[in-house]
Amino acid sequence: MHDRRRLAAGEVLFRAGESGQVAFLVESGAIEIYLERGGRDEPIALLGADELFGEMALAGDHTRTASARAVGDTELLVVTHEMLAEQMARAAPVLRHLLRVTLARSRDSLRLLHHPAGAAPAAPAAAGEHADRTLAAQRLRTEQQLRQALYAGELELHYQPIVELDGGRIAGFESLIRWHGKDGRLIPPSAFIGVAEDSELIVEIGRWIVDTVAAALVRMAAARPGAAAPFCSINLSPRQFDDPQLAAQIGDALARHALAPKRLRLEITESAVFGNLAAARQLLEQCRALGCPVLVDDFGTGYSALSYLHRLPIDAIKLDRSFIDELGASSGAAAIVQAMARLAADLGLYTVAEGIETAEQAAICAQHGVSYGQGFHFSRGVPLDAALALL
Ligand code: C2E
Ligand code: CA
Ligand code: CA
Repeated sequence: MHDRRRLAAGEVLFRAGESGQVAFLVESGAIEIYLERGGRDEPIALLGADELFGEMALAGDHTRTASARAVGDTELLVVTHEMLAEQMARAAPVLRHLLRVTLARSRDSLRLLHHPAGAAPAAPAAAGEHADRTLAAQRLRTEQQLRQALYAGELELHYQPIVELDGGRIAGFESLIRWHGKDGRLIPPSAFIGVAEDSELIVEIGRWIVDTVAAALVRMAAARPGAAAPFCSINLSPRQFDDPQLAAQIGDALARHALAPKRLRLEITESAVFGNLAAARQLLEQCRALGCPVLVDDFGTGYSALSYLHRLPIDAIKLDRSFIDELGASSGAAAIVQAMARLAADLGLYTVAEGIETAEQAAICAQHGVSYGQGFHFSRGVPLDAALALL
């Protein structure tokens, strides 16, 4: 893959119009990029160490748009098409689109230098490029609107009760984000959390959630004076693990609102933990130091490596809705729920079952040692005032 090329001074690497499948990185020496026009060479760039060139042939029809030769003795690293294509495939659609546009623009301007009359038309876009363009446009639009929504106060948190299965009392809530569209529609998180995660926006939204939930916790305690104050959990995105301010900001919100740390709980999914283990561990340890409990969300859908998870500072698991759905339909499902609840208890963790839609599912969970339940059977996520009324 990482072939090298050595060129003597003056040696030509490629000529405009030739076909080329690879790009090059200058290791040492220098490369001159030039155009041959009317029998004369016109230099257009002089490139030194660490500079990349020949990349334009990777983007479109693999034809070199200019010529390249060594200025002194030069050593190059060969960058294959596959290497770049693989990096591109992993990039966000917006980045891929941006890259293609930039490459196509430089290509066009070089083409104009070759054919000032603008004779040579650009190659037609491939189907994949078209999809990327549509997706990129959509994402940029959503990101723009989401940013405005955040500042215009169009984002709102709903609160879904988490109930003690033994006795039925509301122990706390999970906060779930909603976007009030201009047309009055309530947009679900599935339509915009991905876009927020692909940009810095999730960090800002995450901080807004911490502040909003901290303020809501104060009102929740006031709505049930004398009784145990309810907790509220927030969902953390993997992108937030890299926010160096997050733990400090949570600590600050707790202090400002004089909240017991155990009332603010954090939900993270298993796949998020394993996708970025070092950052996850660091954040979890910071949260543990603050005293905020941590729950593993959607448990059972990912690696389900409880044997590994229990070495992380976590306090609870949330059994995924897919297991609860099966309860009542198959006896195997009850056995699985029981086994997970027991294993969690043996490891000193408590269990929440999510997606409980029937009294029967609630009863089976309770009977098999699950401590808390959440789902439409008890209540959907509701605005704060309605949540306070439920208390
Ligand atoms: P999640 O964390 O697993 O949240 C539970 C989802 O299940 C919520 O959907 C909730 O409305 C829904 N649900 C609750 N009970 C039932 C039930 O009995 N039956 C059924 N069919 N569904 C039930 P929602 O609010 O659409 O959220 C979807 C996902 O979006 C969440 O899954 C979470 O991953 C993400 N999300 C929601 N709010 C936030 C947020 O504030 N920040 C971040 N980063 N992600 C969020
Ligand atoms: Ca959750
Ligand atoms: Ca969940």
